[in-house]
Amino acid sequence: MKAISFDAKESISVIDVDAPGAPGPGEARVAVHRVGICGTDTSAYLGKFPFFQFPRTPGHELGVEVLAVGDGVTNVKPGDACSVEPYMNDPESYSSKRGRPNCCDNLQVIGVHCHGGMCEEFIIPAHKLHVGNGLKYDQLALVETLAIGCHAVNRADPAKGENVLVIGCGPIGLTVVEFLKIRGCRTIMMDMNQDRLDFAKNEMGVDATIQVQKDGSELEQLSSLTDGNLCEAVIDATGNKFSMSRALEFVAFAGKLVYVGVTGEEVSFPHPLMHRREMTIMGSRNALAEDFTQIIELMKQGKIDTDAWITHRTDMEKLADDFPTYLDPASKVLKAMIHISE
Ligand SMILES: [Zn+2]
Repeated sequence: MKAISFDAKESISVIDVDAPGAPGPGEARVAVHRVGICGTDTSAYLGKFPFFQFPRTPGHELGVEVLAVGDGVTNVKPGDACSVEPYMNDPESYSSKRGRPNCCDNLQVIGVHCHGGMCEEFIIPAHKLHVGNGLKYDQLALVETLAIGCHAVNRADPAKGENVLVIGCGPIGLTVVEFLKIRGCRTIMMDMNQDRLDFAKNEMGVDATIQVQKDGSELEQLSSLTDGNLCEAVIDATGNKFSMSRALEFVAFAGKLVYVGVTGEEVSFPHPLMHRREMTIMGSRNALAEDFTQIIELMKQGKIDTDAWITHRTDMEKLADDFPTYLDPASKVLKAMIHISE
């Protein structure tokens, strides 16, 4: 069967690999229909993602169909359309036993730490599949991206009517907004790019936007938008160390700051600011199984509309040519989707 290989930095090819055999106990064999491309794949392609080694088959945002199941599998059956929870945790690890398999010490994310789903078929533990019969494969491939935002919002846990600032209008920032809206929060987005802010305002219905200015006037703008109180929660989805350091300025007294973006660099901030306001600062990594369940249910109810998200489409043969174009901001890519089969 065919698979995509990221062979080396900035090099993609289609390779022939052995098709998987029969699924073992507790496993399922799946056919891949859709794979979403995200920032992780982009930085892997550029050789910038810490755990990604070449050559590797990426792909962790997946809409798949169950072909066969092994002994003891009851949660899925052949023909089921599913989203994939790509976080392979060690159930015996300390964090897994504490109910946090998303940040398991030995976590393997498929498509990052090991081969992923940019291929025709693969085998996966069946309990990592989330059935979404009735939803489109396009939607199922977006569940993982949404789950990142869902989990970050659950970490911040803002109440209805509270002011929440989301910094960074990329795909993760936009998924964060989806779940804030469902909670009835007042959403404010901040970014450097006015086009992205316009999209957030016009397509995503955020309540207010603030463009980051060189003069640092963002704080004044935010203050006037929030009666001088600033935000009960701030969620930084930039992964930029400067933004992450500054994010504390926007947090209200007794407020929370969640970092959902990742940087490989040190983040520093003035401690008196954090102490005086008695802030809570949190990380948000991956997502939990219940986030996937919740999102599939919300999609079925029509409460999450992802139609505007998929801006580009490609397939395995065209990927090597198309992928580099997604790196150019002029392409205005929000989410590119690979069609593996229809
Ligand atoms: Zn992703």
